[in-house]
This record gives sequence, structure tokens and C-alpha cells, in this order.
Amino acid sequence: MSAGKVDRSAPDNKLHLLLQGIPAVDALLGLQEMGALEAEFGRELLLAELRGFLTSLRRQAAAGRLDADEIERLCAGAPGEVRTRLERRMAFSLRRVINATGVVIHTNLGRAPLSPATAGRVAELAAVYCNLEYDLRQGVRGSRNDHFCRLLAELTGAEAGTVVNNNAGAVLLALNSLSEGRETVVSRGELVEIGGSFRIPDVMSKSGARLREVGTTNRTHLHDYQRAIGPDTGLLLKVHGSNYRIVGFTREVPLDELTRLGREHGLPVMYDLGSGSLLDLADCGIAGEPTVSAALSAGVDVVTFSGDKLLGGPQAGIIVGKKAAIEKLDANPLKRALRVDKMTIAALEMTFRDYLTGRAGEVVPAVRMIRMEPGVIRRRARLFIRRLKSAVGERAGELEVLPGSSRVGGGAAPEMDIPTWLAAVRPNGQSSAALERRLRRQDPPVVTRVHEDRVFFDFRTVLPGEDKLLATIVAGSL
Ligand SMILES: *Cc1c(COP(=O)(O)O)cnc(C)c1O
Repeated sequence: MSAGKVDRSAPDNKLHLLLQGIPAVDALLGLQEMGALEAEFGRELLLAELRGFLTSLRRQAAAGRLDADEIERLCAGAPGEVRTRLERRMAFSLRRVINATGVVIHTNLGRAPLSPATAGRVAELAAVYCNLEYDLRQGVRGSRNDHFCRLLAELTGAEAGTVVNNNAGAVLLALNSLSEGRETVVSRGELVEIGGSFRIPDVMSKSGARLREVGTTNRTHLHDYQRAIGPDTGLLLKVHGSNYRIVGFTREVPLDELTRLGREHGLPVMYDLGSGSLLDLADCGIAGEPTVSAALSAGVDVVTFSGDKLLGGPQAGIIVGKKAAIEKLDANPLKRALRVDKMTIAALEMTFRDYLTGRAGEVVPAVRMIRMEPGVIRRRARLFIRRLKSAVGERAGELEVLPGSSRVGGGAAPEMDIPTWLAAVRPNGQSSAALERRLRRQDPPVVTRVHEDRVFFDFRTVLPGEDKLLATIVAGSL
């Protein structure tokens, strides 16, 4: 660059020269490294970031914060800087995290993780055509339900079943199909809010069914339902309390009494089971969670439950029950609006197969984690502490393994704790809140529980193969 005959002492000219020293976009684009960036991020994004980079150089130069040497140095570093900018711009928003909270069905962390085999099956079918709605034997249109109905029937004893996007959708569809414009009778003790804006009265009003509350918050009797039944009644509804429980002087009507009442009056009975387990989890300390088959054998017409809570499958709303009722739901145009895609069906089919072969306890991650022996968790917590000590020594802070409790979560097994062991870290030189924050910003981020001056790690929810990585991340954050 030639200065020509300008007066170098004039500040305006000096600035002019400085700005002239900043290359044009095309000059930077010609640099060898830019080819790789263009291939990776595309020309449009690359140009946008190059312009952004140059604009910031000009702005800094105009503000007198850069001299010619610095501009030259920054331009030489342009490929690296632009790569950083592009990577930041294109960083994934939805990312893997390590769940060290001990909450197995953590709604904020995506609920039930799928097994590698199930995830593989989803990936395999996602990339190809499949017989989603095609009857291969007859060469005619088939039904999405065909791929899981037989499995569901074998697992639960249901006459029929169907699946929608999630359990909130299942409840909406069932109420609309069975009780639109009519009254749905439900106990005042069961008008629950699940969190994330799912409230029974609100879903009810959106469904077009009219809410007919009976009983009181803590006690509802069979005669309360009986008295509410009239010409406008369309449905008797029972709702699982999910994330809360009424204790003390309470009374709720057992399911079989409710179904008997429904039969006497020719009314369908629906049960929103929420979590809906296929297995009896009493042996892992989760008592009183009704299984789907138990609800069906009590004579309920329609049972709804989530795919990604205790079942441990994909997000879905699973509906099982009597054939006549399920046919009504399937014929409803709302069903079309709530239907699931092939990936959900692939994951459900695989999950149901795991239950049928009796391996769910070992291979369905959520079930495996709920059933995990405290002794196994304790060993993993101890190994973690040993790894931290050998990586950072005394700097690590105070490290212990303490008894504690894990949670099922997801509105399942309300208030039910499962005994566990926790690795507890009282950090040196930073607060527990600071360590918690730091761990959330790692790659992958680690989500933990903090109580007072300690950060807790519950290995129940740390997935197979993550233990060592977790120790490395935590050691790097201490
Ligand atoms: C969780 C839950 C729902 C909502 O299910 P999603 O699958 O989250 O839509 C509805 N009813 C009950 C009783 C629940 O526990």
C-alpha cells in the first residue's frame, strides 16, 4: 500500500490510511484456509462472518484502538477467528448432558433415554422408506397401529390400543372422543396439575367435555359419583395423582367399584394413569403404582399413559382399552392431528419387544436405573472419588460417599425416594453454587444437585460409559 503524497500528520489521513490497510472481503476469501470453512459452513455464512470480522476491525481502528501492525496481525489470524465465530454461530442447541441428579425420568433432561439398540433401530428406519401405513401382504393401505397393537395386547391384555404424540394428547383425544358436549365426572381430589401447563380442568375444557367435579379434595365416595350421574353424563374419569399425594383423612373410590358403576349406567370409564408401568416395581421400593394390566383387569374402558415415563420408551401417549372405545378414538379427526411418526413407532415397537422378552429390567435404561442396586451405585461413587483424588489431589476439596435418595421423577411414584449413594464434593476455593454452574458449562454439560456447601453426584442416572468422562470433567472444574 502506498501512502502517496498525503500529509501523514493529519489525523484524518492517518485514519484513512489505517482503514485502507484493512483488506476487502474478497482478499480474505482468497486465503487458502477459507476453502475449508466454505466447505464446512457454506458461502453465505462464511461471507457474513467475514464481513462481521472486518466491520469490527474498522470500528476498532476508527476508535483509535488499533495500529497498522495490530491490524496486520489480526488479519493474519482471520481464518482462526472466523472459524471460532462460525462454530459459535452453528453450535448445536440441543445437546447431550450428563444427568448426575439421580432423577431418572427428568422432564427437563428429555425423560427416558432409549437403549442403544432402540436408538439404532430408530436411526435405521429414519433414513429409509418403511411400511408405516402399508400392508405388505395385501398391497393395500395399512394402519400405524398394526406395528405395536399385537405387542401391546400381549403385554397388557388390552383388546386394542393406539398411540398419539404424548399423554396430554391422549387425554385430550379420549375426552373429546368419549365425552364432547357431555359431562365427565371426576373427583375433586384428582383435578391435578402435572407441571408444564398440563392441568386436568384446562385439558377438559379444550376437549369440549364438561367438567363435573364430585367429592372433596381429600375424600370422594362412590355415592358422590352416583349422585352426579344423569342424562348429560358421558364419562367417568379417574386421574393418577402423579406428582402429589393426599395423606391423612382420605378416601378415593377403588377402580373396580368405579368400573362397576360405569357398567351399571352404561358409561365408559377412563383412567389417566400418567406414568403407567408395565412392571410391578414394588421390589425396588415403589409400592402402590398401579400397572397398566391391573387397571385394565379392573374393567376400565380406556387407560392412557406416557411412553417416556416409567415405560422407558419414546415420547408418546399410549392408549389401551376396549375395542369399541379405541375405535372411537381412532376415528376422531383429532387423532390425525396428534399422530406419531415412524421414529416413535420404531422406538415403541423395540421397547415393547424388550418387555416381551423379559429383558426390560436390564436393557430399558429407565427401568434398569430404577432397579439398580445401591451397592453398585456406591462402588461407582467410590471409584469416582478415587479418580478425582488421583487427578487433582488435595486441591479437590472434601470428598465423601454418603447415603441419599434418588427420585423416579416424571410425575411417577409421587414423593417416592429410592435409596442410593451419593458422591459429595465440598469444593476448595469456590462455592458449591459456583462449581454447579461451572459443571453446567462443560462439554458435555453436567447437571447435578447442590445442597448447602456440597455438590452431589448420583451415579444411578449416569449412563454406562460416562463414569470416567464425568470424573475427568469434574476434576477439570475443581
Ligand atoms: C405426565 C402426566 C400427563 C402428561 O403426560 P405427557 O406424556 O407429559 O404429555 C398426564 N396425566 C398424568 C396423570 C401424568 O402423570
